[in-house]
Amino acid sequence: MMRQIFSLDGRRALVTGSARGIGRAIARAFAEYGATVAVHGVRASDALDQSLADVRAFSPQSVAVTGDLGEPGAAAKIVSAATTAVGAPDIMVANASIQVRRPWLEIPWEEALLQMQVNFHATLQLFQACFPAMAKQKWGRLVSVGSVQEVRPHNEMPVYAASKAALENLVRNLAKQVGEDGVTVNNLCPGVFATDRNAEALNNPVYAGQVRGKIPVRDFAQPEDAAGAALLLCSDAGRYITGVTLRVDGGMGIA
Ligand code: NAP
Repeated sequence: MMRQIFSLDGRRALVTGSARGIGRAIARAFAEYGATVAVHGVRASDALDQSLADVRAFSPQSVAVTGDLGEPGAAAKIVSAATTAVGAPDIMVANASIQVRRPWLEIPWEEALLQMQVNFHATLQLFQACFPAMAKQKWGRLVSVGSVQEVRPHNEMPVYAASKAALENLVRNLAKQVGEDGVTVNNLCPGVFATDRNAEALNNPVYAGQVRGKIPVRDFAQPEDAAGAALLLCSDAGRYITGVTLRVDGGMGIA
């Protein structure tokens, strides 16, 4: 039965940055499809509580974990907290990121390093922490969350865009190495989503109109628009998909 191949019954998923936005929508979809979910935010917050309530409506055993991925050792601690609470993750979606707008000549060293740490290095560290248990059971899903900026870099976000482009290369590298362990590795790549980080920019009607003009479907995405792609990559339906960058961008990357 085709519907069954999308089921996540019995799976455990960790989704970083799932207090809000795209991560929250992915976490909720995973719970709806049967997974026990560890939602995650930098720290305790109303948003994290609300996201946990969302997933618990479908999956009462779900938990919330916290940690700042800019800090050394945080990725391993987050995976360890999720493992203690619900068991080792079968599905790891590295969704949290930092995005700073600044002209390239003014980017300070510390700010560049922090974006690379949270967006790229922490993804590698999360994958490293989750992989051994996945390999042992011969089933796992590692997903990074990239950006359409991998192919359409914004002038004022060169480090952010480069950190996302590095993920595309990382998943191709790792996918070749871990396929025989039953683990797939993919990069889910959003376009312009109406989430907190874009609220101020997209509230400017002139700017919003310019951005819409660069998107073939002429609309911004809602967080839920990423959930179907995540479910495909992370269920048995995605068994034969590995090493890809899957853009959910209304065609922006080809425009
Ligand atoms: P968002 O609404 O800004 O939420 C970001 C999440 O990441 C929050 O839950 C936040 O935790 C967490 N986070 C931020 N800094 C962190 C840190 N240092 N350590 C750990 N967690 C941290 O994000 P979004 O717009 O949904 O974006 C989700 C992903 O999609 C990101 O990787 C982003 O780069 C990518 N993306 C988004 C767009 C877009 O248009 N929105 C486009 C392309 C790619 P708290 O809630 O605790 O603050």
